Amino acid sequence: EETSIDRIVQAAVDANEIVARARDIELVRAKKSKLRVMGDPGLLQIAVSNLIANAVKYSPDHTRVGVGVRSAKGFVEIAVTDQGVGIPEADLDRVFERFYRVDPARSRATGGTGLGLAIVKHVVGNHGGDVRVWSQPGKGSTFTIRLPEADPELTTALEEQLEEQQS
Ligand code: ATP
Ligand code: MG
Repeated sequence: EETSIDRIVQAAVDANEIVARARDIELVRAKKSKLRVMGDPGLLQIAVSNLIANAVKYSPDHTRVGVGVRSAKGFVEIAVTDQGVGIPEADLDRVFERFYRVDPARSRATGGTGLGLAIVKHVVGNHGGDVRVWSQPGKGSTFTIRLPEADPELTTALEEQLEEQQS
């Protein structure tokens, strides 16, 4: 199904607003976007929400988390940027593994299972996209989800074909 990136991002931001506000972390939302993708809006919302939840969880109080959307070469990019603890280079490749956590002691204190990013990778991969990370320890991190942009004409053509087949 074709779905609005704007709605997915807004729902994901809303889902994290209370936790962020309690720690005076401002969720800075990008301008509205008309971009659309093909896929399951519920699953995509969980993926984006997991990134925002991490950004909040691994940031100090009184910081900002930015959520941006842009179009690039047939893909939609959703970027979540924080001013948090960051991730050492040696761990960057591994954070998408199930149960992998950079600092088990700190992670026990913050709670969670270490599944969030594995779920993000799985969902995004199933939608023909990918998730990437940049980070500077002590400065912050950016996680980017890339999804193929929906082609409205192609979508309409495929839907008409499907309807014809079903009738
Ligand atoms: P869960 O998501 O299951 O509640 P979790 O947040 O520990 O637990 P993941 O979301 O998979 O698990 O993240 C894996 C690890 O990657 C985290 O434990 C943390 O060490 C690191 N990490 C993820 N996002 C960030 C971030 N924005 N800044 C710093 N470290 C991060
Ligand atoms: Mg997490």
